[in-house]
Amino acid sequence: MPIRKTEKYSETPLYRLRHSASHVMAQAVMEMFPGQAKITIGPPIEDGFYYDFDLPRPLTPEDLGQIESRMREIIRGDHPFVRRELSAAEAKQLFADQPYKLELIEGLEHGAADEDGNPLTAPPVISIYTSDTFTDLCRGPHVQRTGQINPDALKLLNVSGAYWRGDEKRPMLQRIYGTAWDSAKELEEYLWRLEEAKKRDHRKLGKELDLFSINPEVGPGLVLWHPKGALVRYLMEDFCKREHLANGYELVDSPHVGRGHLWETSGHLDFYRESMYAGMEMDNETYYVKPMNCPFHIMIYNSGLRSYRELPIRYAEWGSVYRYEKPGVLHGLMRVRGFTQDDAHIFCRPDQMPEEIDRVLKFCLHILRAFGFTQFHAYLATRPKEKSVGEAAQWEAATEALRASLERSGLEYALDEGGGAFYGPKIDLKIADAIGREWQCSTIQFDFNEAARFNLHYINEAGQEEQPYMIHRALLGSMERFFGVMIEHYAGAFPVWLMPVQVMAIPIADRHNEYAQKVADQLRRAGIRVNVDVRTERMNAKIRDAQMQKIPYMLVMGDKEAVAGAVAVRLRSGEDKGAMPVEQFIAMVNKAVDSRE
Ligand SMILES: [Zn+2]
Ligand SMILES: [Zn+2]
Repeated sequence: MPIRKTEKYSETPLYRLRHSASHVMAQAVMEMFPGQAKITIGPPIEDGFYYDFDLPRPLTPEDLGQIESRMREIIRGDHPFVRRELSAAEAKQLFADQPYKLELIEGLEHGAADEDGNPLTAPPVISIYTSDTFTDLCRGPHVQRTGQINPDALKLLNVSGAYWRGDEKRPMLQRIYGTAWDSAKELEEYLWRLEEAKKRDHRKLGKELDLFSINPEVGPGLVLWHPKGALVRYLMEDFCKREHLANGYELVDSPHVGRGHLWETSGHLDFYRESMYAGMEMDNETYYVKPMNCPFHIMIYNSGLRSYRELPIRYAEWGSVYRYEKPGVLHGLMRVRGFTQDDAHIFCRPDQMPEEIDRVLKFCLHILRAFGFTQFHAYLATRPKEKSVGEAAQWEAATEALRASLERSGLEYALDEGGGAFYGPKIDLKIADAIGREWQCSTIQFDFNEAARFNLHYINEAGQEEQPYMIHRALLGSMERFFGVMIEHYAGAFPVWLMPVQVMAIPIADRHNEYAQKVADQLRRAGIRVNVDVRTERMNAKIRDAQMQKIPYMLVMGDKEAVAGAVAVRLRSGEDKGAMPVEQFIAMVNKAVDSRE
């Protein structure tokens, strides 16, 4: 069976390559500002690397070109990367004129943070890496020689501002982003993906297509869905809710706030408080806005005595939750502070568990495929080595059920050993979009923690109390984020069934307006969403505007069409379908809607 082992990025050759490229870049920058450049940190990141500098003047695009050229020279020098361990005192001497490095060494010395500023659990060995004339405080790993970096697969992308340690009270630094790959072809493909991603940026398209906005007056990370976006969301939810009902789920609804006591019982106030909005005082009690829906669904479960005959119980809710995210990580619809999950909780008996997992996984793929996604990557995350709750037997049974279900599904999956939450194992599903990016959306997660904390039980066949298995699952994840992924996947040109406006009727001249309105009425009666462009613009301008709005069908109507009772059909792709009777056009749209193509 197709099992992949999850590869940690930090253990890959590409990671070493990019980390090494960042050192080479730092050397080139130091040479550009001799005695003046202050270096800070320069880690590899997804698809590339960066380095943050404190420099006497802002960098220009010309500087980047020059730095890049110098990097190629350094690479061709084929200098070895040499590691050396040293004492804190020696390191301080070595970096005496580098205040940021001194701060990092202090951190290392006291075991607070590594050379990238991340918190550490134990004081590490202090090490440096030297290549050519450049020495950096560094844990590595690196390639052996600069010559192993392909000079033709390297590019500096841009410069942006970044606060030292992400702290706005500390100095503003200049961050140079770069990318490095094994081959020039990979670099080229990556640059193409970057260009495509820019064109598809949901924040840009969201504005152009008038789908949503995020207004500072409302608050960062809080989304306003405009009529067109709200309509797409309604269509998505409506489809999903029907499918849920048809698949044995019951829809529930729960409040946006709950008593502190509830969140104490659930453990959120202990483990999750930093992500929660501050409490509100009411009737001498503190209420909290919900960061999750689970406790409410559990309360519904616990509202009656449950018998083994009633299980499985599957509660689904489009539940809006609020979580505090730092301002720096907010990003359009992808990372927000208020969002709606297509959330469900399943309560089942141990003997029902394998079938339930099968059902969820199958249902999940069905829903994602309905939205046009065909490539999935599954990850099975198992019990963490450190602390976790729940019986060993429960963990084993649940993990085995997840694994067996993945096997039966035929999905290729990766094992993420120890990657489960402390409260249970899970399957995460990532979808690949049109330009090959992966997005984490679906999750199927066991919970032994809340099941115990809320004393979940049912009466088994022997008349005894037993704890059911509780599974959290979200398929699209967050409606906001999934909508963002959809916008970027389709570049705004959603499938016909989801388009807010499916048809634009385009009368050629004013005298054709009446006929266009008549056809539009006929289409509306057939359930098709249509607008009529009665502006006094030229026909070509109207077609271009409709294309910009990604409207799937444009119906051009002039004398000929009016006389024949026909419409001339153009697709958003530019394809000209020619004239056809209105009835035939309606059948064509209905077919596209029904097939969700
Ligand atoms: Zn380094
Ligand atoms: Zn939950």
